[in-house]
Amino acid sequence: MKQSLKVGLLVFALCGSAAVWKLIGAHATPGLQTKEVPLLEIAHRHADQLLGFPESFPLQVAVFWTSPGPDPENPLPLVHSLKEMGIPFFITRDFPQALRHRLVILYPSVDSHTFTEAQADVLTTFVQQGGFVFAQNVFSGGLQNLFGFRSFAPSRKRYRLAFCATKDPVTKYLNRPEERETQLGSDHFPEIIWSNGYIPGPGAEVLAHFDDGSAALLTNSVGKGKVYLLGLSLLDVVLRNQNNRDYEAQRHYVNTFEPGADVWLLVLRAWYEAYGKDWVRLSTIPGGQRSALLLSHDVDWENSFAPGVDFARIEKANQANSTFFIQTKYVDDANSKAFFFAPNLNILRQLEAGGSTVGSHSIIHSRGFNKFELGSGHETYPSYQPRGLGFDTASGATVFGEVRVSKELLDGEIPGQDTVFFRAGHLRVPVSLPEALERSGYLFDSSFTADDVLSNFPFALPRDLGFEEDSEIYEFPVTIEDEESPGFAKRVPQALQVILANAENGAVSVVLIHSNESILKAAAEQDLLRQLPPDIVKTDMLTFAKFWRARDRLEWSLAATSIPTEAVLQVKSDESVTGLTFEFERPIETVTGGATMFPDNRHVVLPELAPGHSVSLHINYLH
Ligand SMILES: [Zn+2]
Repeated sequence: MKQSLKVGLLVFALCGSAAVWKLIGAHATPGLQTKEVPLLEIAHRHADQLLGFPESFPLQVAVFWTSPGPDPENPLPLVHSLKEMGIPFFITRDFPQALRHRLVILYPSVDSHTFTEAQADVLTTFVQQGGFVFAQNVFSGGLQNLFGFRSFAPSRKRYRLAFCATKDPVTKYLNRPEERETQLGSDHFPEIIWSNGYIPGPGAEVLAHFDDGSAALLTNSVGKGKVYLLGLSLLDVVLRNQNNRDYEAQRHYVNTFEPGADVWLLVLRAWYEAYGKDWVRLSTIPGGQRSALLLSHDVDWENSFAPGVDFARIEKANQANSTFFIQTKYVDDANSKAFFFAPNLNILRQLEAGGSTVGSHSIIHSRGFNKFELGSGHETYPSYQPRGLGFDTASGATVFGEVRVSKELLDGEIPGQDTVFFRAGHLRVPVSLPEALERSGYLFDSSFTADDVLSNFPFALPRDLGFEEDSEIYEFPVTIEDEESPGFAKRVPQALQVILANAENGAVSVVLIHSNESILKAAAEQDLLRQLPPDIVKTDMLTFAKFWRARDRLEWSLAATSIPTEAVLQVKSDESVTGLTFEFERPIETVTGGATMFPDNRHVVLPELAPGHSVSLHINYLH
C-alpha cells in the first residue's frame, strides 16, 4: 500500500495532471482478450552437423571436422561464422572429399592423432599444388613445417590481441582501431580463454600477436598454396561472446563499436574472397544495400504509449518504420501500477494499423528476470499473477510466464497480431530464454547489447545459451540505446559513427529509444535518420528479422555449365523473402529469372521468392 502510494505520487508529480491520478487510482484489473499460445516441442533440426551441411557444389569451403571423439568439439562456432558471412560450405569427416575443394578449414584442432603420416603428406601436397587451408590450434609436430611454426605455448593469461601492419589479404576488412586490436577477456579474471601462442618458423608471416608477443595468427606460403593458423578457437572468440559466456571481453557495454567477435568473421570472409576462385557470397543486407538500421522502442511505462504515435509519424515522414516492444503490465506491484488497458490498447492498435510492428517486453519487466525459474509452460492469463517485490526480486513469476502470457495478451488484444519478437526488461537474460521463446512460438529476440556479445551481425541463439546446438530463435543485439548519459539527443553524432563503422562491415545497427517522451528524443531520431547515407536501409526490426531468418535457412548452389562464361545459381527458400542479394567476384553481363543486376555488375538482387519453390538464374559473365 505504502509502495503503491509512492508510485502513484511519483506519476502525479511527473505528469502534473489530476486526471492521470484519478485514472490510476480508480483502476481495477479489467478483463483482457487473449489468444491461445500452444506449447511447442523443441525441434532438433541439426542434431547431426554432418547431415545438416552436405556437399553440393565445388565452390563450397570444405570443413574437415577433425575431432569426432566421444566428446567432440562441435563445429557450431564455425557454422555461425560462415553462415553469417554468407560463405558456402559443407562439413565432412571424409578427408579425400575435403581435399577435392580448393579451400579447406580444419576444425577444431589438429594434434598428433588427427592425421596419419601419409595423410599429413597428402595435406602438404594439396597445399603445394594450390590448396588453401585455414586451421586453428595445430599441435602436431609432423605439420610444423607446413603451418610455419617452431613451437607453441598454451596459456589462459593472454588478454589482448593486435593485428600487424601487413599486405596479407585476410586482414583487409580490419581498418579501424577497434578492429586492429581486440580484448580476449577482462584482466579482472586471473585466467580467461585458452590460447596457443606460436613462435613462427622460417618464412612464416605473423599477422596478429598476443600481448606476450607470441603469434596469434600466422600464415605460410607453400608452393602454389597457402596456410593460415590461428592460436585461438572460434568457440572462444565467436560463440562464447555471442552466448555471453565470455570473460567480459567487451570494452564497453553499449553505444560504442565493439567488433571483438566480428573480426574473425571478417578474416574468414576476406580469406574466402582472396582464394575462392570466382567466389559468390550471400550478402548480409537485402536489396544490394550496404547496411541496415533497425529501429525499436521500448514501452515500459504507463505514459510511454501516447508519445509512440509521434515517433511513428516522424519515422513515416522519413521513409522508416519501427518495432514497439510492449510491456503487458496487467498487475500492480512494487515497481508500478498496471497499464495494459484502454486507452493505451487503442494507441497500440493504432500503431499496428499504421504499419509499425509490435513485440513483447515481458509483463513485470523485472531486473531479476535472469534469475527466474523456467516455469511449466502452462502459465496463462489471468491465473498467472507475477509481482515485482523490489529492485530485482519477484514472486509468482517465471520465464515462461513472462514470455508466453505477454504473447497471449498482445495477440488477443491487437487484431492480426502474431507476436514473435521479444525483448527482456533491463536486458536481463536467463539461460532458459531461448527455450521459453521457441516453445511459445517466438522467432526473434533482442535482449543483449551488441557490445556485450561483441557481435554486430544477427545470430542464431544457442539453446540454453550453450555450445551444442542452436535454438529456433535469432538474436538482434541492441547497438545504440537512449538512456546512457548524456542521453540519446546529445549522442546522435556518436551513434552515427557507430552505424557507419558497422556499415563498412555489412553489419547492422539496432537502435532502442524508449518512447517515454517524444519532444527531444523523436527530434534526435529524425536528426539521425536524415543524416543516414542512402545505402543504409531504415527498417523496423521484424521486417529485417524475417529477411535474416529466410537468408540463414536458404539453400543455394552455383553450377557450371558447358559454356565457360555461364553459370546457374539455384536458390530455394522455405519462406517468402524479398531482396536476397548475391555478390560475385567475377563481373556479370546478364542474369535471367527476373533478378536485378547492380551497376557494378557484381551484385544480383533476387525477385521475391515464393515459399518452397526452387528458382534457377542463368548468369552470363562479362567476357
Ligand atoms: Zn524496458
